[in-house]
Amino acid sequence: MNEAAIWRFLKSQGMTDAGAAGLMGNLFAESGLNPKNLQNTYEKSLGYTDETYTAAVDSGRYTNFVHDKAGYGLAQWTYWSRKQALYAFCKAIGASIGDLDAQLKFLMKELSESFPGVLLVLRSVTSVHEASNVVLLQFERPASKDTEATQTKRAGYGQTYFNQFAVVSAEKGDGATMKYTSANPPMKCFMRQSSWYKSTGKVPVRGVLWHSTGANNTTLRRYVQPDDNAADRAKMLELIGVNKNKNDWNREGQWVKGEWVPLRAGVHAFIGKLASGDVAAVQAGDWDKKAWGCASGPKGSCNNGWIQFEICEDNLNDPAYFEKVYREAVELTAYLCKLYNLDPQGTVTFSGVKVPVILCHQDSYQLGLGSNHGDVLHWLPKYGKSMQTVRDDVSALLAGANNNKEEDDDMDVVRFKELWGEMRKELQDNDSSKYSEEARAWATSTGLIAGNGEVIDGEPNYMWADILTREQFVTVLYRFAKKMGMV
Ligand SMILES: [Zn+2]
Repeated sequence: MNEAAIWRFLKSQGMTDAGAAGLMGNLFAESGLNPKNLQNTYEKSLGYTDETYTAAVDSGRYTNFVHDKAGYGLAQWTYWSRKQALYAFCKAIGASIGDLDAQLKFLMKELSESFPGVLLVLRSVTSVHEASNVVLLQFERPASKDTEATQTKRAGYGQTYFNQFAVVSAEKGDGATMKYTSANPPMKCFMRQSSWYKSTGKVPVRGVLWHSTGANNTTLRRYVQPDDNAADRAKMLELIGVNKNKNDWNREGQWVKGEWVPLRAGVHAFIGKLASGDVAAVQAGDWDKKAWGCASGPKGSCNNGWIQFEICEDNLNDPAYFEKVYREAVELTAYLCKLYNLDPQGTVTFSGVKVPVILCHQDSYQLGLGSNHGDVLHWLPKYGKSMQTVRDDVSALLAGANNNKEEDDDMDVVRFKELWGEMRKELQDNDSSKYSEEARAWATSTGLIAGNGEVIDGEPNYMWADILTREQFVTVLYRFAKKMGMV
């Protein structure tokens, strides 16, 4: 069935269960998951059915595919440039315009090249409704998109697929595993030379507060440097890189134009690029140390108990960098929630205010518990994220980790079929043994064995090592009988 094949394909492209389901619900609404689907209103006006239209386009008899304005295929591609690209894509790989596999690959090409923001959501989202709306409003953009009813209906289709395919794997516990655990904590580079480190004491841990730096510099070395006398200084500098400007945060201040400017800032961790370019979190001080992060507002300060970290910003326009630092920040937050037994969806009453366990600098300002800064809400919404998606993603990560503890068998039918398919793919080349050389030459020259239409190293692909089905077996027999004049 197309459903299972589509699900497997979307999952193999890194989509979450909710993301795959939300996309499938929309494809179902567009085409009933039929890759040959021609928009119904055009069947009459063009005088074609799904099948005859597909065949006519493939054979070249029908030449107005690109410009006829008829929706076609899984996603009901309609606009001429998208139909043209679909046509070119299928032609280039020698596939029918109505081929499921080709259309899925084209769909991924469109998503990654023209709709990277949508793809990013589908790879990280935990809500089917959210996934469905992103696809509906940003990718499909049908005429009736503005009605709530359309959104609800499509999310409902998506939920059906989620229930059908995702629940099985969640119960099996092949959900997420946490990157950071007590056995594998984030790397440490304590900054004991900073005024922050020297001045502040312990506070009870109440939650986690996100910052981003507000400057276009993705490198950790800009902010994090080891102590002058740290035992692992050389190793740390190799990992993090060297700050030649000496303006990192591991200092009490710096001379600027002959004037001493004290540095009164300090947070527990930073997320950004190591010297290698990999994104990582680095811990800069004990988690239960009072932060000098969000400053204070009229009602007090979240510095008293919220673990705080800075995410190094880029120019805020790179979805790939955003995806990496967002994931890393979610991982770090989940790790801290587990470490301090914090409820990611919870609130605590502090200074007479109800404060979310997980929040950002701007949230603290809104609550009267921080200074007037916009981070991180000038950045997250650009990619469909919010502090609520953070809480949901942290919850999902913690839930997945718990499931994994109870059940580590992540093999199921879907996975087995994937592996089976991979194995067949490996066998489907021209590898063969010497002993069969004469027989192979005879079988191909007489036409008893035909290839699969592909060419490998200049020869037709005969898939010598692959499994022979009963269907292929009778076909070979039949060709032989024909040669012998028996049929
Ligand atoms: Zn901030």
